[in-house]
Amino acid sequence: MAYLIMFYILGVRELFLFNIFSVAFYVTLQIIIALGKSGPKFLYLALIEIIIHAAVATHFLGWQPDFAMFFILIIPATFLTYTQRIYIPFIISGVSMGLFLYYKITMDYNAEVKYIFDDNSIIKAIQIMNAVIGVFVMLTGGVSNIFIREYKEFQIVEQRETFRDLASKDPLTHLFNRRAMNEHIRAIRRDCPPRSQYVIGIGDIDNFKRINDTYGHDVGDKVLVYVSNQFINFIPEGGYAARWGGEEFLFVIPNASIEKGVAFTDKIHKMLRSHVFEIDDVEFGVTMTFGVSKGIPVDKIDNVITTADKRLYKGKNNGKNHTEFTD
Ligand code: GH3
Ligand code: MG
Ligand code: MG
Repeated sequence: MAYLIMFYILGVRELFLFNIFSVAFYVTLQIIIALGKSGPKFLYLALIEIIIHAAVATHFLGWQPDFAMFFILIIPATFLTYTQRIYIPFIISGVSMGLFLYYKITMDYNAEVKYIFDDNSIIKAIQIMNAVIGVFVMLTGGVSNIFIREYKEFQIVEQRETFRDLASKDPLTHLFNRRAMNEHIRAIRRDCPPRSQYVIGIGDIDNFKRINDTYGHDVGDKVLVYVSNQFINFIPEGGYAARWGGEEFLFVIPNASIEKGVAFTDKIHKMLRSHVFEIDDVEFGVTMTFGVSKGIPVDKIDNVITTADKRLYKGKNNGKNHTEFTD
């Protein structure tokens, strides 16, 4: 727009006309971007417009007003523009550089061009305007490139987290799956101080088969989700809970006494005993049985888990709906 006004005032007909086209082009481009249909194609068209503008201006005004600097300025911009076809920036830069060399070879600095301004201050004004616009174009290109890169990096990080979540969490309950839990336990054993201890507990929903058989599998799933949410809500800081099997849950709490593990299961017991499930017009209660054991870093993890499992089994035989923590 600034060029349009300038060339109108200076009476440079060809460039005035060209800039009418340019303004129309950029307005269209803005509309396309606003409609969310922008892509590298349009950015390349904008770069090509700049090159043609520089060529037309150099042709009619010569070297003095500095329009030719855009031939060189445009080169990094072609590479900053994202593309899947890497040869396109090379082609556009090649054309731009070619035009610059063409004018260098064919046109002297004081060549007899169509429009010659005797007034030095007019040339200065155009030069300053070109410098300002050139810097502006480069800055916008550079800054938007930084933003695009940051945004892409952010997207990659998010994607990576999504994938990690998908790979480590049970899709129904969002608790850790068995594989991820084994990694967490390994890390806890590796990182905890030599004389500290950790607690492992296994919990199993009582008579879950009956819930499934009476109310249906979907209701059973909803019970699993509810129970899992209690684990997620109440697991102490630093601890992990996993869906260890169908309706079986395993938790681990680092740097904790067995009492702390039992206290955690008591919270779950309390929550469940006071909760009436009202799913699809039916009402019922759910209870769980837990087996809890402790381990120190040198213990074999399988043994600690087996001990918890045996205690769970003992709890099932001793009337369910409580926690066992001794043999
Ligand atoms: P106990 O008190 O001894 O633990 O009895 P139980 O009925 O809970 O134990 P059992 O092992 O006999 O039954 C577990 C049931 O859990 C059988 C299986 O169909 C069900 N189950 C396993 N995974 C899922 C699941 O993802 N969704 C649903 N709805 N049921 C499941
Ligand atoms: Mg069960
Ligand atoms: Mg079971």
